[in-house]
Amino acid sequence: MNVKSKNNENYKNKKCKNKGKISIISLLEDERANFSIIIAGLMLIGFLILSIAVLNMAIDKTDENIQAISSDEFQYVMKDYMRNIPILEREALEELGDEVMENKYPSQDSKADLKELIDEKLSLKAEEYWENYNIHINSSLVSIENTSNPFSYKFNTYISSVKGDYSFERVLSSDLDCIGLRDPIPLLYCKGHYGLSYNDTCYSYGNSLSELLKRKGVENYSLYVNASSPLIIRKCPFDPYAHHGDDNGKIMKNCRDNGYYHESRDGACYLCRLEGKCGCEHYGFETFINPQRTNETGLVSACGSDHVIFSDDVYPGVEVIYNNESDVSDLNGQMPYEILYLDPHGHKVKYGMSDF
Ligand SMILES: [Zn+2]
Ligand SMILES: [Zn+2]
Repeated sequence: MNVKSKNNENYKNKKCKNKGKISIISLLEDERANFSIIIAGLMLIGFLILSIAVLNMAIDKTDENIQAISSDEFQYVMKDYMRNIPILEREALEELGDEVMENKYPSQDSKADLKELIDEKLSLKAEEYWENYNIHINSSLVSIENTSNPFSYKFNTYISSVKGDYSFERVLSSDLDCIGLRDPIPLLYCKGHYGLSYNDTCYSYGNSLSELLKRKGVENYSLYVNASSPLIIRKCPFDPYAHHGDDNGKIMKNCRDNGYYHESRDGACYLCRLEGKCGCEHYGFETFINPQRTNETGLVSACGSDHVIFSDDVYPGVEVIYNNESDVSDLNGQMPYEILYLDPHGHKVKYGMSDF
């Protein structure tokens, strides 16, 4: 029994001693854990401070970049917008021409109609730029001027824009021509007479033009039955015009085959043609109406320049036979020469056809 109780006491003492050891170890372990937490916390704070510093630097850098890009971008965007203007204006010119051709009705004021079409296009384009670049652009057509080149007009367009510290203001002048556009004059003048048609390149009048000339009391109006004339406005390259009669009239034949137009004080400019005028106060242009070929000679009919034929004051032209290759007709019965009716002292001289 004594032995047993001694053993028990020893066991208890050992147990107490061990208990003390364990609490010191766990205390040490706790302190180590706390230390780790503090270190980790400090590291985290350090990392956060570093991150914030780096982030701030990056933000500053980005701000600088935004400023730099904005300046360059603003200039680029405005230049890019201006590049579109002549394209849009040419489109408007073509659209107004198409509208006149389709409606067979002249424009009441071609410059005002163009301004409306162009301003609409400019505002749609400006909307696009607002959506893409967040830049508000103001622009509108100011004026259209005739120039010393009757096939060309000067379109003046006002453009302005402000974005932040940057601003832009300018009047852009663009030279736009009517080359390649359709001449509405024959359609506007002959639409009331049956027989007029046109394809991609020329008008065929059928009986329409001769009927129109008959109504105007023109002598030998029937020589313009089945006449033809160009549809597309193209500038004659045979300049000076006095050379049209060269080489037995081959130049004139080439010119007529291609349906060229010539500068003319009396002929209408393109914008006036859209208003249904065959002549105007501007420096304009003219083309020829090719009459029927006839075997008779020495005939007189309307002078074949378009500004004469469609005017209220038609004056006569004498028969001019040129490019006469032989006296025999070809297999289709076509006579081997060309005919125009020209006034002796005006168009015959202008085009060097006096010897025919
Ligand atoms: Zn010519
Ligand atoms: Zn005009």
